[in-house]
Amino acid sequence: MANSSATTFLAGILCIALSTPVSADTPNWEQSATALLAELVSVPTVQGQGQVPVLAGRIQRHLIDGGFAASDVIVTRMEQSATLVARYRGRDPGQAILISNHMDVVEAKREDWTRDPVTLVTENGYHYGRGVYDNKLDVALTVTTLLRLKREGFVPAHDIILVLSGDEETEMKTTAALSKQFPGAALVLNGDGGGGTMAGDERAVVYSIQTAEKTYATFEIEVSNPGGHSSRPRKDNAIYQLADALKRLEAYAFPVQSTEQTRAAFGFTGKQIGGSLGQAMQRFSRNPSDGEAAAEISADPEYVGTLRTTCVATQLHAGHAENALPQRAVATVNCRIFPGTSIEQVRAGIAEQVRLPQTSVREIGKGFASDASPLKPEVMAALRKAVDANFPGLPIIPTMSSGATDSLYFRAEGIPSYGVSGAYVDPQDDFSHGLNERVPVSTVLRGLKHWHVLLTELAK
Ligand SMILES: [Zn+2]
Repeated sequence: MANSSATTFLAGILCIALSTPVSADTPNWEQSATALLAELVSVPTVQGQGQVPVLAGRIQRHLIDGGFAASDVIVTRMEQSATLVARYRGRDPGQAILISNHMDVVEAKREDWTRDPVTLVTENGYHYGRGVYDNKLDVALTVTTLLRLKREGFVPAHDIILVLSGDEETEMKTTAALSKQFPGAALVLNGDGGGGTMAGDERAVVYSIQTAEKTYATFEIEVSNPGGHSSRPRKDNAIYQLADALKRLEAYAFPVQSTEQTRAAFGFTGKQIGGSLGQAMQRFSRNPSDGEAAAEISADPEYVGTLRTTCVATQLHAGHAENALPQRAVATVNCRIFPGTSIEQVRAGIAEQVRLPQTSVREIGKGFASDASPLKPEVMAALRKAVDANFPGLPIIPTMSSGATDSLYFRAEGIPSYGVSGAYVDPQDDFSHGLNERVPVSTVLRGLKHWHVLLTELAK
């Protein structure tokens, strides 16, 4: 470990030396981005501490100092949190390109961490700190890139709007509010999804563009019954009926689904992993009605969620007394929904399996379903150049992620959204949400190149 960290660190320095010629009047953008990242990490934007508006204010100040009109950088408070919207004016205000990131972070307790989580510490080729990966890295990269473009006098064809949410990790109220403010936007570039996968610090494996998210909904199956005394059992018993219904649901599989994205991802992953599973993936990518291939992929726990909507019982409540027949039996069922499937379709699918009188299947809480974003040729072409700027020819694959990001809300508003983070990270180094979160130092320069090429290509 120590050796590879040392190599990483050296490689980082080499990279800086080769790629950032510093002259008196050209700012060192890597230094600026790193300083900004340190500032962002120093403001603990966890839920309940009211620090998101403070952080938004700092970013606002940097943008105005860097040439944005004060009236184009708006911080809006929402309860304890805030949003920031910064408009980089183009030749035409319509068809704006949105850049989405979030300012909040997951809680980090000082006593659990090796280093202070709200101080950016650089050691052994890594920057450490809460949020340094999720998602303050891409906040720093995109803000720095916009400042750089201002300085270079770049005028985009259409407005570029930086859109920062303040509670992505928790309630997503700020995201919901932001997603409704840009009805005519062309697309969203989300720094909180996708990115480069590294094997060590020098070898890149693949670049993933996140184009879809599996979404979720929770349902309750409720069986009711007149009940009675337990000394006189009836034929219909709410607990037995619910148990039977759940066994049917257990045996049921929603239909296999695929999109151009998941087929492409299976083709690529299948080639990478090889073996019987890899071959099944390649067969499925060529022919998604190959049932045997689908069955083999589904049998692997790693990929069970990639082919269809899945639902699973998670909680049970039934009966009211030990000597009474149950009047009520309720099961909670949580579903992960394949893009393009509506919540009502899932509810109807469950109800069909339950097939009981005096039974209801209803959604609880508020689920969210959204479609996959189409692979737009202009986005893929710009991304190709951005990826080539760091790793020429690196494969790019579209991916569907299982969690939720801000893109979920924008997709639901009909705005195609793409996770195109500038992070180039080895999955072994991914401690986001966990302890000792870190990113390799090398990703700052790579990420700056990435966003600069991506924006200038897409917005020229
Ligand atoms: Zn995030």
